[in-house]
Amino acid sequence: AKRAGRNLVRVFDESMDESVRFRRQIETGLGQAMANGELSLVYQPIFARGGLEVVAFEALLRWCSPEHGMISPGMFIPVAEESGLIHDLGDWVVEEALEAAKRWPGQFVSVNFSPRQFRRQNFVAQLVAQVQRAGVSPNQLQIEITETALAENAERAADTLYRLRQMGFRVAIDDFGTGYSSLYNIRTFALDTLKIDSSFVDGMGRERESAAIVHSIIHLGRALGLEVVAEGVENETQLQALRLAGCSQVQGYYLSPPLVADDAVRLAEGGSVL
Ligand code: C2E
Ligand code: CA
Ligand code: CA
Ligand code: CA
Repeated sequence: AKRAGRNLVRVFDESMDESVRFRRQIETGLGQAMANGELSLVYQPIFARGGLEVVAFEALLRWCSPEHGMISPGMFIPVAEESGLIHDLGDWVVEEALEAAKRWPGQFVSVNFSPRQFRRQNFVAQLVAQVQRAGVSPNQLQIEITETALAENAERAADTLYRLRQMGFRVAIDDFGTGYSSLYNIRTFALDTLKIDSSFVDGMGRERESAAIVHSIIHLGRALGLEVVAEGVENETQLQALRLAGCSQVQGYYLSPPLVADDAVRLAEGGSVL
């Protein structure tokens, strides 16, 4: 019986979710990745005037692990969020993004923050210290935060957003329409930008529902005096439909993939990356 028990444990161990083991490796590896220079940022341009003008770049994290190759942020950000590593990681991202922003003539950088970062004590003060250290004006930095992070404690979130904007930072709600914030809350949030989730843009040409939602968000944004960015624009049809609907800004592979910093600088200076 003892033997069988031991075997059972072994079997369980070996069949233990590949994904659980992978997560554990990620957690350990991520701690060293920063020090080893395995992390980098790429920058996806955000366009105004139907693609004629670059107004900003969204910083997107990349991890090239010697063990696993390229690991998507969709995979490791949740692990970093759970383990608390997100704070050190996030600080690194902000510092790196601000260094890049210094090289652009007029564009700002838009950085993603996870809910745990947003809830951190001294979140605003920390950002103020970071822009000061970098010698960058706060309006060079946009904070992208999902509705879910804002919904958890709407009153506290509203206060944080208010203070961010008072300090001069820009604020965007990311993946708008997919989270849990209510219009009631939106009303109390100090914002600059709504980013329409790519799933709605993707569905626009196929389903009346997606098209209706895209139109509604654009109208809502305009009525509230906000910029509206459509994400995940992948073809000319979508671009035209968004332009007709009055969408002020667009982002997606059709316009440009995320770029390494040098290419982003070239594009920002009015050159071409092609
Ligand atoms: P997100 O903020 O919604 O970023 C947009 C994602 O869509 C990016 O994926 C981008 O590469 C991808 N994308 C851009 N254009 C297109 C397109 O035309 N079609 C499609 N299908 N996708 C497009 P990525 O870089 O893999 O990032 C995934 C997510 O990871 C991000 O989603 C964001 O939530 C998170 N993330 C990335 N970098 C950071 C970071 O520095 N900090 C935090 N906290 N989260 C990050
Ligand atoms: Ca984003
Ligand atoms: Ca998004
Ligand atoms: Ca997304």
